[in-house]
Amino acid sequence: MVVLNMVLGDNKPRVFLLKKPVSTAVIGVLDLQGGVFEHLDHLQRLGITGIRVKELADFVNLAGLIIPGGESTCLSRLLHIYGEIREIIIQQFQRGMKIWGTCAGAILLARSVVGELSHLGLIDIEIERNTFGSQLGSFTSEAVIPSVSSQPVPLTFIRAPKITRVGKGVDVLLRMEDYIAAAESPDVLVTVFHPELTGCVAFHRYFAHKCGLELPDDTTAIDPTWNNKSWTRFTRIAYRTRQMRSRC
Ligand code: GLN
Repeated sequence: MVVLNMVLGDNKPRVFLLKKPVSTAVIGVLDLQGGVFEHLDHLQRLGITGIRVKELADFVNLAGLIIPGGESTCLSRLLHIYGEIREIIIQQFQRGMKIWGTCAGAILLARSVVGELSHLGLIDIEIERNTFGSQLGSFTSEAVIPSVSSQPVPLTFIRAPKITRVGKGVDVLLRMEDYIAAAESPDVLVTVFHPELTGCVAFHRYFAHKCGLELPDDTTAIDPTWNNKSWTRFTRIAYRTRQMRSRC
């Protein structure tokens, strides 16, 4: 990502992102807890280099960062323990790194969390955790989200939160019944559902564009070669199993 730091008339530094070919850009997935490999799988399907982000050095030159779904209390405790990771997320964000939070990731990014202290507070939304009840209140649905894809997008909600309010400068991408399911500011994308748990690559493409990546002109929303075990090719267990099979 080419970043130009410029000082304009009001003396405030502004960051300008120039389009960068997908072959040289990197999107990181925060690897503290949650669905990391599922996002890496989707990035790879689009030809994007995705990396697991665990240490300070991993943040160098990231065009964007995905904070995956998982459990926001656990993630926020880890961010508290590894305070330097929290600091560098904020620092890189201020330097132009875009961020997408899915579900628990969206909770971490919200400026206000109902009944709790907020965590990173990088987008002006209010979010309420576990508003559909227990894990048994998880469900799937489908919607057309015109800014993201002209085709219907499958939606998977897992003990999802609801976005209850968006502030100035935040656009609603998907409103459902009494809540908001996806929203964005110029620098942050939040979804309370999990595109990485479906064959839908439209949100990952949308985020890549937001990060300034130049992707081939392809508007296909669903990758038909995806299945719910695709992500296991990134895991050591899948690797070992393959090795064991080849030895037999
Ligand atoms: N219920 C979780 C929380 O409040 C979020 C669930 C998810 O990320 N799928 O943190």
